[in-house]
Formats: sequence, C-alpha cells, structure tokens
Amino acid sequence: MLKIPVAKPDLGDEEVALVTETIRSGWITQGPRVAEFERDFAAYTGAAHAIALSSCTTALHLALKVLDVGEGDEVIVPSHTFIATANAIRYCGAQPVFVDIDPATLNLNPQLIPALITPRTKAILVVHQVGRPADLETICAIARQHKLAVVEDAACAIGSEYQGRKIGHNYFAPLVCFSFHPRKIVSTGDGGMITTDNAEWAARLRRLRQHGMSVNDLQRHQSATVVTEEYLELGYNYRMTDLQAAMGVAQLRRLPKIIARRRELAANYDRALTGLPQLELFREPGNALWNQQTYLVRLKGASPVQRDEVMQKLLAVGIATRRGIMSIHREACYGSAYAAQSLPESERASDQCFCLPLYTQLTEAEQQHVTEQLRRALA
Ligand SMILES: *Cc1c(COP(=O)(O)O)cnc(C)c1O
Repeated sequence: MLKIPVAKPDLGDEEVALVTETIRSGWITQGPRVAEFERDFAAYTGAAHAIALSSCTTALHLALKVLDVGEGDEVIVPSHTFIATANAIRYCGAQPVFVDIDPATLNLNPQLIPALITPRTKAILVVHQVGRPADLETICAIARQHKLAVVEDAACAIGSEYQGRKIGHNYFAPLVCFSFHPRKIVSTGDGGMITTDNAEWAARLRRLRQHGMSVNDLQRHQSATVVTEEYLELGYNYRMTDLQAAMGVAQLRRLPKIIARRRELAANYDRALTGLPQLELFREPGNALWNQQTYLVRLKGASPVQRDEVMQKLLAVGIATRRGIMSIHREACYGSAYAAQSLPESERASDQCFCLPLYTQLTEAEQQHVTEQLRRALA
C-alpha cells in the first residue's frame, strides 16, 4: 500500500557536502558559517540585518525583549497559531491578549484589534499563518495610530511576498522572526532568524543570544591581541551552530525551486478539489505570494469528530493528514481564564480544518491518490 506522509524535508547532496565541509573545518559552533547564512538570508529577504538563533521561539523571545516588553505589558496576538507564538510573550513576563481571526484567511482580523487596546498594550504580534501573508498594511496603520510596536511571526513564511516584497523585508515591521524546523520550508534541523533594519537592535540581539557577551568567539579567535570579554546584560544561549547554518546556506540556494514546486502541487490540489461542496479551500491573497508551507482544507460545518473521521479514512488508505492549527486559549497551560474566552472563528477553524500531504518529492500519481481518496471519504 502507498504510504504518504504529511511532510518531508527537502534535503540533498548540497546540504551533505556543506555540512561535511564544515565538520572538516574544525569550527562547528556559531562562527563563519552562521555569518555566511546571515548574509545570504539578509540578501534574500532584502533586510539590512539578519541574526541567526536556535529557533523561532527564541527569536520571538528576543524580538520582544529588544522592544522592552516586560512585566505588566500586554501584547495582542492570535490564539489560532502554534503555542510558541504566545509563549514567547509569557517568557517576557507579559500577557498575551488574544484576537480572533478572519475565517477566510486564518490570519488575525485587524478590525478586532482597536477594541483590545488598553494603556498596557505594548505590541502586536502578527502571524503569517501557514506562510500566507497577513494584512500588514492595515495592522501597521492601526499600530502607528496607537503607538504600538509590531513583530512578525514569519515562522512559516520564508519566500512568501507581500505587496511585492519578501516577508522579512522590514518595510512594515522592524522585527521579523523565522523558523527552520523540519515542518517549515527551509530546515536546519532546528533554527531561527530575526531580520531587522535597526543596527542597534541587531547588535543587542547578537549579544543576547550569546550570554550578553561583548565579543563573540569568532571575533576573539581572529583578534591579534588578547581580548577579555565583558557581560553587559543578562543574556541567553540561543545560538545556532555552524553545522545548522551550513544546511541553511545550501537550503537557501535551492529555495526558489522548492517554492515553485510547492506552488505547483498546491495548484494541482486547488484544481482537483474546487467545486466539492463539503470543502472550503484557502486562496492566495491578491496582493501577496504564498509559499504554500501547508495545504489546509476546511470541512464546512463539521464537528471535530466528523473531521477526524475523514482523516481516519485517509489514514486507513495510507495517507497521513494532520489537524489544522491549534487555538492556544484552549490549552491547559493557559489556565481557566483564557479557556473561558470565546474566539469563535479560531475555535471553528481548529475544529474543522486539516492539512493534506505537501512536499517537493510528492509525485503527481501520489497526489491523485490523495484527491481520489479524499473524494471517496467525503462521499
Ligand atoms: C513552528 C512555529 C513556531 C515555532 O518555531 P520553532 O523554530 O520550532 O521554535 C512559531 N510560530 C509559528 C507560527 C510556527 O508555525
């Protein structure tokens, strides 16, 4: 029987060669390869600075940190996202204030933001869910009006574009965070990146990721004079290793091809599934390019049990799927006050959506098997 997983990283000989070369170089922690990956990433996104980190979760934590988000502050954020987005706010001692989504886009609904703003609101944390660009123009206009900072959680959005610019370009928000977890499009095993146009923040982010040290290992190694480091503020170990960065450099070179293939596969799904009355599909916004990090469908009007039945039927014929995006306020670690909140569109989307297999190696025949079996499961 065919076994079709839901996702598979696209790794090849170039990644193996660069990682091998890096091991042989003798420098494996954050060093020249991380610096190279950062330069390539900044050039790709059009950002002035790119700072590599151990994950998108740590990137979000430090992005909020340089904005001085702390105790007593509130940050407006969707609940309908991966839990790390809101956890980063809590790491700073601040409080997530959940905003509901637009059901057609699964991204936060900007019209709901003004009612949530209080004197304690410090920032808006925007998520480009499954890589589909959020309405940055409207959100940033609201933020400017109320003097709020904006951070983008672009964990899934590498290669996506908004109004003709790559996500990561700091035209709208000054801090954009990316993930290189294997479920994303570029993977380094684990890893993250922040892009910013602010040189002072870039320098501080580089210190914070390395224990607050005034110089990094590479600078000390390359110095002709003895360097004694200082610890200027409380920092963290949030570094990316040179082994991870070597993978990232190779992945970034292949990214245009990877995205083109993903968009081709998504278009195939669109064609095969359009017109099925039980399904709602999610479309590319007119002013954006979507990297198709995840192909979600909504089973219209379904309960979670009915949705799970369809997923189970697909699994029985060798097709793996996953439920859609979670709604954080319903999770135990957020407690009863959050659980009591009503975010109807977030909850409905969590209950009704699921994602279909999508990865560059997926063949047309396998994809046809998926759509045929899905039609059968819905019949
Ligand atoms: C995956 C993901 C994260 C977390 O990324 P890590 O690199 O695994 O820490 C954060 N936010 C969103 C929206 C994600 O999809």
